[in-house]
Amino acid sequence: MLPPSLTPTKSRQADIDENVAAARQAIAHACRAAGRSPESVRLVAITKTFPAVDAVALVRAGITDIGENREQEAAPKAAELTVSGVEVAWHFVGQLQRNKARSVARFADWIHSVDRDRLVSSLDRAAAEHGRRPRVLLQVNLDGAPGRGGVAVSDVAALAESVAKSSSLTLSGVMGVAPPQWEPKEAFDLLAECSHRVRRIEANASEISAGMSGDFEEAIACGATMIRLGGKLLGRRDRPH
Ligand SMILES: *Cc1c(COP(=O)(O)O)cnc(C)c1O
Repeated sequence: MLPPSLTPTKSRQADIDENVAAARQAIAHACRAAGRSPESVRLVAITKTFPAVDAVALVRAGITDIGENREQEAAPKAAELTVSGVEVAWHFVGQLQRNKARSVARFADWIHSVDRDRLVSSLDRAAAEHGRRPRVLLQVNLDGAPGRGGVAVSDVAALAESVAKSSSLTLSGVMGVAPPQWEPKEAFDLLAECSHRVRRIEANASEISAGMSGDFEEAIACGATMIRLGGKLLGRRDRPH
């Protein structure tokens, strides 16, 4: 039995059930259009700014993967669900400072936002300390705009080598966010090319995390294996991120 604070209201549960069903349908439709199987796309629900009780509702709607973009919010939410026996795979998708590496390595099963060598060494050490082995995606800065997270396209292979050589991280693929001024297809094609470079270094690192509520169909057409949906599942966020 979950505590009352983690028990969704009937109406919120019904809304989330409906949103998840609609998202699954849209994903299946995009997969069919691309000649892919719907099982080839993992749906990661992004719960940032929403309370832990919404994550419970998502799990009851069949979601198995939950993502967050800020350590300060993610760590307590993951802990709250874990102590209540709600088991999901946790994904960390936001920019990551090295002083947060220990905390993130403790709860995250997947880290989508690895973009520099020094972060690789911090995460590797932290994962070893916790006796964990998170899966790591290299976040690529597709347009090279400064201030945005991500490794430059030209440095993807070198960073892949660095993760491949680590002792406690599993190199699993790439992640990208389509730059606002670009056609999504242009962005996701470039990300697919980066994925190819990574797979030359680690053949099993075939995950491509791409696509959000506004562009997941294009991402699926370009080969995304993970899409990250927030608004489409949970509604509008009060504070923007
Ligand atoms: C917030 C966020 C998402 C989800 O965005 P929506 O547009 O709400 O689907 C996906 N990826 C990252 C990295 C995010 O920060």
